[in-house]
Amino acid sequence: MALRSPIFFAGAFLLLAIAYLAYFNVALRTDPAAAESRFNLLLEADAPRRAAAHGERALAMRINNGESADTLAEFKARIARAQIGRDNFKRGVDLLGDALASDWAQDLDIRERIRLQDERARAEILAGDLEGAVAVYASFIELAGDAASRGAADNPDSLDAFYAEQVADVRPLFTKTLNHASPYEALARGREAQLATANQMASLGSFYAMRDEGAYAAAALLSAAYHIRKAVLGGDHQDTVQLTLILGPVFAEMGRLDDAENLYLDAFHAQERAKGSNSPDLSLYIKLLAGIYEQQGRMTEAQALYEHMRSLFQDAFGDQRYAVNRERDRRTDVNRPVSQYFLLEPDYAPTDLVSAAQYSIPISKAPSVDEMKLRLAADEGADPREANLPARLAQLVSLCRSESGDSISLRSGYRSYETQRILYQRNGRRGTVTPPGMSEHQTGLGADIDVNNRFMRPTDRSYQCFEENAFRFGFILSYPPGNDYLPGEDSHEPWHWRYVGVQTAHLYREAGPHQKPQEFLAALPCYQERAASGYFPAAGEPDICLGQPPLLTAAASAEETPQPPGEKDNSARILNDAAGNGRTQR
Ligand SMILES: [Zn+2]
Repeated sequence: MALRSPIFFAGAFLLLAIAYLAYFNVALRTDPAAAESRFNLLLEADAPRRAAAHGERALAMRINNGESADTLAEFKARIARAQIGRDNFKRGVDLLGDALASDWAQDLDIRERIRLQDERARAEILAGDLEGAVAVYASFIELAGDAASRGAADNPDSLDAFYAEQVADVRPLFTKTLNHASPYEALARGREAQLATANQMASLGSFYAMRDEGAYAAAALLSAAYHIRKAVLGGDHQDTVQLTLILGPVFAEMGRLDDAENLYLDAFHAQERAKGSNSPDLSLYIKLLAGIYEQQGRMTEAQALYEHMRSLFQDAFGDQRYAVNRERDRRTDVNRPVSQYFLLEPDYAPTDLVSAAQYSIPISKAPSVDEMKLRLAADEGADPREANLPARLAQLVSLCRSESGDSISLRSGYRSYETQRILYQRNGRRGTVTPPGMSEHQTGLGADIDVNNRFMRPTDRSYQCFEENAFRFGFILSYPPGNDYLPGEDSHEPWHWRYVGVQTAHLYREAGPHQKPQEFLAALPCYQERAASGYFPAAGEPDICLGQPPLLTAAASAEETPQPPGEKDNSARILNDAAGNGRTQR
């Protein structure tokens, strides 16, 4: 048998191949299944451009055949991947949008659905539609809740953590897209839509600002939000100004000190216009600005600003503020000072007394007597059913009982003005009874504590426990050694603890005047303001919040404390010069 030439084989093969291809191409054009399997092969082979064409053809045929949106959804999601792979982001966004809107997506595992949303939002960023993507990730942050603010979730497998992870993962894409010289311009849309976008950008930017390597994305997003708010609301609006407090530190972290300086100056001048040039609210911006000057090595200017900040405080929280705070109606205020300088009116009585026994506080007397009652006081803004005086006292007692082994009980809580008067009459100035109107017991906030059935003493182990822990539960020692709050020689009362709320007790512990609780309470707004603005006096510097009680200084307060000459003028000049010259002033 003659051998057939290789050419014959080649020719035959070619014919077959042509026939096959012809058939196949026809099939690809008429049979959706064939087109789809071709699509699958090409997608697997990482050829998205060709895959997309076959996928779209198969899709068109299946739509022509009358298939429903729900049966097509999964296929659309896969075509979207191919389209995104060939940089056709817009089409990818549309296809994923269809898929996400279908019943198919609703039935997906929640994490699968989140991944699809993430995929679509990423394509949106790449397609240049930042608003859509920002809205998606801002909603993820909201859904992540605590996991987003903590940075790390308690449970890394939780859904909260999963949401936070998606937002963290998209960071480089935001950085890349927004990292160009000109500030991002919001699309010309309605005022409300623009503000909504700014809010979402601010929330996303704050998320990145808290994270390692998040500064670039944070700066871009927060700047964009800032520019939108500035354009829509104006530079003086509080929402605009407030953003500088997040954006400024990001700039500073990136070494963009000039940008931070200009931002803080804008904010300072906006606050100055809104609140006046003597407002202590300015001090926060002055402090931030001074910090930037320090980083830039402009020490003289920084120093002048710190001085200016001190003088603002001096003006705002001198005797004047002290007196105002003393006089305002503090009838139900858990921070009301009480002493011979801060008298209570005879008709002052709390309206929210409860039985201590009901809150599992061990008591020394019959539960029905008034003295075994306390106020159901709560911290400002807290739920009184949980964060209240008796519940916290019960916790403190329980902690210290187990630490010390002592038996601890409530000896005396609330006493009315009348009860105090009778007690005082009976005991005179002997012993432990305070004249009526000067006792914290009238507020229902004070608690005399018994240890092993007698007054608590400084040598008790349970006293040490109270000293170390009471502030965590909102209690402070009202009558420390050496105080002059009550008439008589010695009014040190190691057994008398008083509720001021957890925040106030912490503030007293960390920043309050040493062993001067009533003065601290009288000047509380000053201490709060000082803590909020991060201003703490240097060692040896007089405590400007701690004025003398007006009773003692009625004569002295008439004399004005002279201001160091020129101090204010100097800092004003720096602030104005810097504002005028911006970058060039050094
Ligand atoms: Zn007492």
